[in-house]
Amino acid sequence: MPDIDTMPAGAVLNAEPPPACSYCGDEITDPEERADPRRDPNDDEVMCDDCYQEHFEFTCCWCKEYASTDVQHEMLVIEDADNEMAEYRKGVYRVVDSPYWSDGMIECNLVPSSLEWIAELPDGLHVDYYSCGHLCAECQGKIEAAVKAAEKGGE
Ligand SMILES: [Zn+2]
Ligand SMILES: [Zn+2]
Repeated sequence: MPDIDTMPAGAVLNAEPPPACSYCGDEITDPEERADPRRDPNDDEVMCDDCYQEHFEFTCCWCKEYASTDVQHEMLVIEDADNEMAEYRKGVYRVVDSPYWSDGMIECNLVPSSLEWIAELPDGLHVDYYSCGHLCAECQGKIEAAVKAAEKGGE
């Protein structure tokens, strides 16, 4: 009979210890998550949902759905013009060069020459918490369509 005090927590109930997230090290205890855990696309290591979302997904600032970071850095939404973004016009920007931001000591700074203003903020688009936001592929498509329609109308 092993000394119960020296056994890791959970070992008494579960023969298999829960897998640990390769990013934060937390054990993945949620049964659903555990049955089919997220994996790091780079090395196939197990990840918890939180870390996966943090590293490989973002929340679209328009439809509020999670989206893959593959498309994240193609457009930038700037809403809050009251603070350090005052020099930027509100709206949707196309990222035309990379990098479009540089890390500052306190916050990241945008690089104006990498950003091209393409559209007004659509109705219903509000960036929560941050002064900038990103769009999922679907919402980017809606912006592209609006830009095209505006170009036609202006001819
Ligand atoms: Zn994690
Ligand atoms: Zn969206």
